[in-house]
Amino acid sequence: MKVGMYYNNSDVRLEEMPVPDIGNNDILIKVKASGICGSDVMEWYRIKRAPLVLGHEVTGEVIKVGLDVDKFKPGDRIFTLHHVPCEECPECLKGHQTACRDFQSINNFEPGAFSEYLKVTGKSVDTGTLKLPDNISYEEGTFIEPLGTVLRGLRATGIKPGDSILVIGAGLSGLLFIKAAKALGAGLIMATDMQENRLEAAKRFGADYTALAGEDIPSTLEGVNDGRLADRVILTTGAMPAVEQAMDSVERGGTLLFFAVPRPEDKVEVDFNRYWRNDITLKTSYGSAPIDHYQAIELMSSGRIEVKDMITHRLPLEQIASGFQMAAEGKDCLKVIIEPGSQD
Ligand SMILES: [Zn+2]
Ligand SMILES: [Zn+2]
Repeated sequence: MKVGMYYNNSDVRLEEMPVPDIGNNDILIKVKASGICGSDVMEWYRIKRAPLVLGHEVTGEVIKVGLDVDKFKPGDRIFTLHHVPCEECPECLKGHQTACRDFQSINNFEPGAFSEYLKVTGKSVDTGTLKLPDNISYEEGTFIEPLGTVLRGLRATGIKPGDSILVIGAGLSGLLFIKAAKALGAGLIMATDMQENRLEAAKRFGADYTALAGEDIPSTLEGVNDGRLADRVILTTGAMPAVEQAMDSVERGGTLLFFAVPRPEDKVEVDFNRYWRNDITLKTSYGSAPIDHYQAIELMSSGRIEVKDMITHRLPLEQIASGFQMAAEGKDCLKVIIEPGSQD
């Protein structure tokens, strides 16, 4: 079978690999759609384990099931995940599923979803694989994981109806935050980015105001929000100037969510006195767990959140290198989806 082997952002090769054998508890799927995620092109994060086959926003058709699998049968349309929490450890039981040690260390995909076929093993078969409702297409289904991470992040902010929201960074995650915040009843929504075309997308997807990242964001925000900063500030980029702006844009009683974080070598200074005096919360959010995927599916299936309008490119596996290039540059694309088998 063909796979897209990742060496670095500008070197992704089409290579051959045997179709994985499955054991009694595994399933094999024919990959139908596989989204390129912002984290796939975070080179410093990915390059440590290269070469490897990436891809974790995936849908497909079950073509083989192990003898002991009774939940799925060939022909099922599914969405599946490489990381799932154990649901048994103290972290999981306390609701911090993405801090589960298993979640972070066990990868249940072989080789990865930029591939014609994908073997799913372990807990991912039990709790990480869900059947797609008929009204969610394969390509829409690739948004279940990214939307799940966004819904988890929003929950971490403690968002309430009417809250003002500042989304810093209007890439795909930022845009999903805008859509999801709106669906959950947010008040004013403002988005910032360095690129005009992303700000246009932010407006199209529900932002009331936008501003270029170079502006004095706290003042711009106060100008349109009755002299107030934002109740919930969401950082979807770890760039240091953005982090500093975010720090200065949270209103009293508000929350700043680090959905993206600075690189390990970048240290952030926090004015704890201001935060302490004003009851401001700093939060992080990493990944998504089954509860988030159920929510994502419900919101998509009921039409409360539309994602199809965010897909800008659909490419066969053969063109994965240009897909990565586009996603890494992030200029004229939102979501790039790889569709293995689309050229057969
Ligand atoms: Zn992702
Ligand atoms: Zn656990």
